[in-house]
Amino acid sequence: MKVRSRRPFLVILVFVLILAFLSCSRQVTSQRTENFEPAYLKLHRTGELKKRAEELWKMLESCRLCPRRCGVNRLKNEKGFCGADSQLIISSYHPHFGEERPLVGRKGSGTIFFSNCGLRCVFCINWEISWLGRGRPKSFEDLAEMMLALQKRGCHNINLVTPTHYSPHIFFALDIAAAKGLRLPVVYNTCGWENSEIMELLDGVVDIYLPDFKYWDPKMAEKYSSGAQSYPEITKQALLEMNRQVGVAKPAQDGLIYRGLMIRHLVMPNNVGGTKEIIRWIAENLPKDTYLNIMSQYTPMYKAFDYPEISRRITKKEYEEAVRCAKELGLTNLDIQGY
Ligand code: SF4
Repeated sequence: MKVRSRRPFLVILVFVLILAFLSCSRQVTSQRTENFEPAYLKLHRTGELKKRAEELWKMLESCRLCPRRCGVNRLKNEKGFCGADSQLIISSYHPHFGEERPLVGRKGSGTIFFSNCGLRCVFCINWEISWLGRGRPKSFEDLAEMMLALQKRGCHNINLVTPTHYSPHIFFALDIAAAKGLRLPVVYNTCGWENSEIMELLDGVVDIYLPDFKYWDPKMAEKYSSGAQSYPEITKQALLEMNRQVGVAKPAQDGLIYRGLMIRHLVMPNNVGGTKEIIRWIAENLPKDTYLNIMSQYTPMYKAFDYPEISRRITKKEYEEAVRCAKELGLTNLDIQGY
């Protein structure tokens, strides 16, 4: 008698099991996203977000929003070192697919690029926006609508690029957008050079901090970032505070990060940034699983050609040394782009 093969039955069974698994994991993922509540929502409901926006707005009268502390009266339309007065200027907004993978997901990080900048690095890749202030005047309502439009397009977060000098405007807009249904996490994408009193006001508003740690040596910060000698010291304090507020950035089941500190370090030619010291400081002062993106894409731009030591890209060896150092010092949550 011929024995019937059980193979087709087994193939169908495996297929059904795979489908069930996929549908189940999709459910878990969407549950994670639906259950997420951004930090600012609570402060919006209590009216605290608007109060903080007003407090920040008052600071424009003798501006001390960033560590330059120029003291200009931006409310009388005086411009500070950053080039900003009271008018919000935005360069562009769109889904961005070049950010860190846990922010980009499938539908992009919802970036909003703010014009002008308080740090002003000579090698800035966005120099037309940061130094020349290219962009268009926008109202709080316009900014809120941009946030909502990015949410509608499926972006996974609102990524505020160089937000510091427009923090009052952002708070007002966030309050309006939250009332109209914004539920995405807010990413504070900053150079890391943040005043402690501003950090206090950001507490409970920001979900993800995405700061740079650019220089270890104050002399380098002074030379390449328009006299910002205080950069290393202030940035260290800011990173500690960011970690206290949001903790370690870990991906959820859907692979996206909703909360936490994600540090970026751009490896510079000729060790101008002080890569090893920076990595050592992170390893000794923050949790070992702190997210650290070791960036290899330094490209000389704008005024960088006036400084021979930074007028080239980095070498493979320079990048690999940075990665080796991070691994040797025990950092476990590394974003290694490769060279
Ligand atoms: S935000 Fe601009 S105006 Fe205000 S302190 Fe900084 S550089 Fe000066």
